[in-house]
Amino acid sequence: PVPGARSRTRLLAQRRVRLSAASSLAYDSPLYIRRGEGTWLFDEHDAAYLDCVNNVAHVGHCHPRVVEAASAQLATLNTNTRYLHEGILAYAERLCATLPEPLSVVFLVCSGSEANELALRIARAHTGGREVVVVDGAYHGNTSTLIDISPYKLRGPGGHAPPPWVHVLDTPDPYSGRHGDDGPAYAAPIIAAAHAARVRGEQLAAFICEPVMACAGQVVPAPGFLEAAYGHARAAGAVCIADEVQVGFGRVGDAMWAFEAEGVVPDILTLGKPIANGHPVGAVVTTPALAASFANGMEYFNTFGGNPVSCAVASAVLEVIADEGLVANARETGAWLRAALRELDDPGVGEVRGRGLFLGVELVADPETKAPDARRARAIVEYARGRHVLLSTDGPARNVVKIKPPMCFGPVEARILVTTLAAALRATS
Ligand code: PMP
Repeated sequence: PVPGARSRTRLLAQRRVRLSAASSLAYDSPLYIRRGEGTWLFDEHDAAYLDCVNNVAHVGHCHPRVVEAASAQLATLNTNTRYLHEGILAYAERLCATLPEPLSVVFLVCSGSEANELALRIARAHTGGREVVVVDGAYHGNTSTLIDISPYKLRGPGGHAPPPWVHVLDTPDPYSGRHGDDGPAYAAPIIAAAHAARVRGEQLAAFICEPVMACAGQVVPAPGFLEAAYGHARAAGAVCIADEVQVGFGRVGDAMWAFEAEGVVPDILTLGKPIANGHPVGAVVTTPALAASFANGMEYFNTFGGNPVSCAVASAVLEVIADEGLVANARETGAWLRAALRELDDPGVGEVRGRGLFLGVELVADPETKAPDARRARAIVEYARGRHVLLSTDGPARNVVKIKPPMCFGPVEARILVTTLAAALRATS
């Protein structure tokens, strides 16, 4: 081991005593990662692993400009947000410059969960309603309220039935969804949900959805789904929240924001994970009208949200995305990768899908029935880990191999990934 490294066995034993068993680790044989650079991670022996699944280290692990921005600001000032500071305004300006009107008012928070919590509060303040429409398979965060609107968790071990104020739509999955690629058909039940709420003397507050669904299994929604859903939700007096905690900041390749590819503009956009390359930041961007409804006299205070260090780091991330052409890279490398994966000849590969550098490979036991093959998906991920290529599984049945690398993932890395996946398919067939 390199100097300073501990024994892996000892770290595991210590975790078992000091950390909750609910906090899980990846892989049968968990990794001890000690440093990162670009798309690579290094273990206690300084052996390299290709990171194909870390959408938090958006511009690459330990990007020098991000490290420099954080260090310089940390050495100058970090405090709560009750003072005037140019950093938060510079960031808000820069972020809004990437967004269409009327998305122009920014709240900075510390995580994706906080962003979605705040989005719900804004939606409820604006509409006077309480009820929420979500999509099956979705995950929106770890707080009590967000677990209630996350069927991904509710339907799993330790879950419970959605509360009466939560309306769950079928996943608009063109591959295995009930209505095939008929997007508007998945959205139609919003009309009945709005009616059911009214009958109880309630009202819909929000429709929340990721423009590409991550935990639901890297699903690009059936064409026309979001447009129809936004139409029904708005007709019922609700607002539309786009959760881009996973898919924002150019990951989809065609555009900076995934909603742009769907022809919609949300009333509230929530951001997290990649926003500051691993530094804990989240954001809510909304319209002046919604922001005005939320400013009802109750002060909104967030101790750490929007602190000078967070803003310096988040600004550096936006600069690097632009200066290094990372959106174009996600488009080009992603297109090559998707095409190469589609050439993998294996009846167990039900579908290769996604946008940009946000891809999924769905494993099925039988291409006719599309029965999920979680065992094989897991075996593929473990095989790849053994060859130092890091992936994960997702989807409600955990049968989708998930690909969402740092955005500097290039042609060399893409070839390594495809070769490894081809070998993994042969080894597990
Ligand atoms: N929304 C989505 C779509 C997510 O994937 C996640 C995290 N996996 C969250 C919200 C919650 O973000 P955080 O873990 O930063 O609270």
